Amino acid sequence: MVRVGGTAGGGGQEFEAGRHFVGFGPSPFTSVTKVEPVFLGFGIETDKYNDYAGQDVRGKDVIVLQGEPTDGRGHFLLSGSKQESEWSTAFRKAALARDKGARSILMITFAPSSSFSLMADGMGEALTEPGYELTAPVRQPLSGLMLNDAPPSGLGTYLTSLELGAALLGATPEALGQYVFGSYTTQRPPQDALRPQSFWIVVPQTRTELASENVLGLLEGSDKKDEVLVISAHYDHVGIQRDTIFNGADDDGSGTSAVLELAQAFVQAKKEGRGPRRSILFLLNAGEERGLLGSDYYTGHPVLPLAQTVTDLNIDMIGRTDPRHSPTDRYIYLIGSDKLSSQLHALSETANDRYVRLKLDYFYNDPNDQEHLYYRSDHYNFARHGIPVIFYTSGLHSDYHKATDDVEKIEFDKLAERARLVFYTAWEVANREQRPVVDSNKP
Ligand SMILES: [Zn+2]
Repeated sequence: MVRVGGTAGGGGQEFEAGRHFVGFGPSPFTSVTKVEPVFLGFGIETDKYNDYAGQDVRGKDVIVLQGEPTDGRGHFLLSGSKQESEWSTAFRKAALARDKGARSILMITFAPSSSFSLMADGMGEALTEPGYELTAPVRQPLSGLMLNDAPPSGLGTYLTSLELGAALLGATPEALGQYVFGSYTTQRPPQDALRPQSFWIVVPQTRTELASENVLGLLEGSDKKDEVLVISAHYDHVGIQRDTIFNGADDDGSGTSAVLELAQAFVQAKKEGRGPRRSILFLLNAGEERGLLGSDYYTGHPVLPLAQTVTDLNIDMIGRTDPRHSPTDRYIYLIGSDKLSSQLHALSETANDRYVRLKLDYFYNDPNDQEHLYYRSDHYNFARHGIPVIFYTSGLHSDYHKATDDVEKIEFDKLAERARLVFYTAWEVANREQRPVVDSNKP
């Protein structure tokens, strides 16, 4: 329960979980906590529009509005068009708040409590329907809320209804709408427009400790063995829901099988006297579906220092054909290859041209893409530590996170040929004279 005003014991205005707000990930709050939040507008940080200017949010609880500055008729300030930017997603804002060291983020949606509770029930089905929009008091597309995905780890993440949001900011819903228009008109965060109120979080909380393990296999290199290439996939999936087992054949049985095949190939090469110059860590992560937990743990407790970790090649869902391609297409999506290192990007393309010749599809590499896959698998925990990454995927499909993601639907020929591309790229990264140089940091 959230109580705005009042005391630890009672009083004030009360808002219930499920009806007025939903939480994701582990709650940083225990029993009864008084929260003195900071309001950070939309929670955006770009050259053009910055809510974080002059703010230190370490250890703090951040309130932001869902969406981004818009004129209310579908024009977005950041893109200068009718195209949403990456900041329309809850995930992007949560990731930034986490990277800034915040304790929690509360995102105010423009959904009135009546429809908010319905959507909270459906856990994102309605929210992620493309084009689903609400009308009061401003139109903000809700497509970006992405409740199907866990938020970044290490941050309490909450979505609130419009009414709770207004109470948290001591304002009317209309005033929140005015804030949105004001930000669009002046092209900067309106100053002193809304003042966050202190509130109580009352959490009857039971904590259960669950143990899990990442699975690591280290193949020692030769003359550059102090540097390590990581090849990763996640071996968890979404578990059992209402007595149905979700097998996750593509997500990420396909990636873990590929990692095992690569491990076998590199070990065989070493036996035949062609071992890698750099060490290779084959990393199967736990807890990816719960917020990239395994890779978060690994990058906090690496077996070789992160400074000597040259690249992460991460494989997540490479066994299917997505609706953007025809069944005969030989393709793979590459995400992130050019974000930190132009050399990694170039060597990846060369490896493909020379050996595999798949169509390299960079559709999801666009920072304005609605799915924001760059932030949604384990490679991101390496990228945020400045380590170049490539994320390999054949894309989303109708069985994604459904009980029907089964092995009968895997296209093994395609899986194998995509895994070969990762192999040739890995071979080059592990054996070339210089590690890929970090020369940029693109969103
Ligand atoms: Zn996955």
